[in-house]
Amino acid sequence: MRITVLGSGYVGLVSGACFADFGHFVTCVDLDKAKIERLNKGEMPIFEPGLEDLVRNNAKAGRLVFTTEIEPSVADADVVFIAVGTPSRRGDGHADLSYVYDAARMIGRAMTSFTVVVTKSTVPVGTGDEVERILRQVNPAGDFAVVSNPEFLREGAAIADFKIPDRVVIGAEDERAKRVMAEVYRPLSLNASPLFFVSRRTSELIKYAGNAFLALKITFINEMADLCEAVGANVQDVARGIGMDKRIGSKFLNAGPGYGGSCFPKDTLALVKTARDNDSPLSLVETTVTVNDNRKRAMARKVIAACGGSVRDKKIAVLGLTFKPNTDDMREAPALSIIQALQDKGARIAAFDPEGMEAASHLLQGVEFCDDAYDVVSDADALVIVTEWNQFRSLDFERIGAAMRHRVLVDLRNIYRYDEVERHGFEYTCVGRPSGV
Ligand code: NAD
Repeated sequence: MRITVLGSGYVGLVSGACFADFGHFVTCVDLDKAKIERLNKGEMPIFEPGLEDLVRNNAKAGRLVFTTEIEPSVADADVVFIAVGTPSRRGDGHADLSYVYDAARMIGRAMTSFTVVVTKSTVPVGTGDEVERILRQVNPAGDFAVVSNPEFLREGAAIADFKIPDRVVIGAEDERAKRVMAEVYRPLSLNASPLFFVSRRTSELIKYAGNAFLALKITFINEMADLCEAVGANVQDVARGIGMDKRIGSKFLNAGPGYGGSCFPKDTLALVKTARDNDSPLSLVETTVTVNDNRKRAMARKVIAACGGSVRDKKIAVLGLTFKPNTDDMREAPALSIIQALQDKGARIAAFDPEGMEAASHLLQGVEFCDDAYDVVSDADALVIVTEWNQFRSLDFERIGAAMRHRVLVDLRNIYRYDEVERHGFEYTCVGRPSGV
């Protein structure tokens, strides 16, 4: 199969590299010249474990090329994936589909023979109809089919998720397109990953329903954590206790500072918007959005309380900035709101993150970026763990405590136990686990 992927970001680049690894011939296109230049030099524009090797091996084998030229790449392709961004539109929370529609126009102008145009970007229900309309308008004689194939990979584990997915959802009505998609994903049959064929609109909605459900699950356990603090119960044990029930499942029940990232915040908002537009409001999802928004500021208040009620002129050391470990993605990371809220209350912030500091430096003002976990705590009044990178899981608390002005640890990811840190003289605050339970 000759596959072209428009958009070489977290999804497009990983998908392109994995398709090439399946044995297909893949062209990854991006309008961002600097990105393509870096890729052509073998440099990764994003941090994703395993990606550099995968790209290098497949480029070397001649199955993966990078270009800014859309027309020739589309003209030659059997399948064109749209993997461009769909951020929140300013003002109303609706998904901004301008990149998707621009991509559709470019494809329409460039396609020659039968082309399967696949929307991999997360797009509101009905977007496939509009993509089809645009293609027909731009190229009235064109032979094409529009398919929805949402992506479920998680940053940080993207390659494994792509190659061994729980399922591949394909929304297609056209029989030729279904056969082509089955061929594209045929190598996955070795992993027994099911291809789930549904209607295009259903497929579009599955992606949003999935993300909304996961956001709701996180938010549920976060509220439960607050209740645990109020009544003297342990949220980790509650999570384990309910997670052992197979109807509930143990995943996505880690209490913390609220969800962030490039997907959940914008996708829940877009789903709420779609539901309202269709006069079928999703009040559970609306509440999830509100509760999660409030949570980040509540986490800042937790830090302030741990510092004795004020952070004015105090130095707060922050470990972890990205919305989760193993990525450099800072989009909607809880750290952004927490740091802003602490700065608003007069705190000085020093921060360290293994991969996110470059992106964070464009989003945060007045933050001192440090070299490592030990550098960041120098003279600090409190240490706050916001993201649970592995390298923060076994800190040398004697060394950290000796460098700090006050031994205060706020662990927003619950990665330590009281006894582990208290024996080094720290006052320990975590999420939903009051002392002694
Ligand atoms: P991204 O911002 O990392 O990448 C998008 C890329 O598309 C950019 O490099 C941009 O320059 C390029 N682009 C824009 N218009 C283009 C065009 N017309 N032709 C070629 N390139 C173009 O975005 P992402 O995180 O990869 O997300 C892409 C889509 O996938 C979104 O809809 C997102 O919701 C969805 N998604 C993301 C994830 C994730 O974990 N990041 C997971 C599942 C689904």
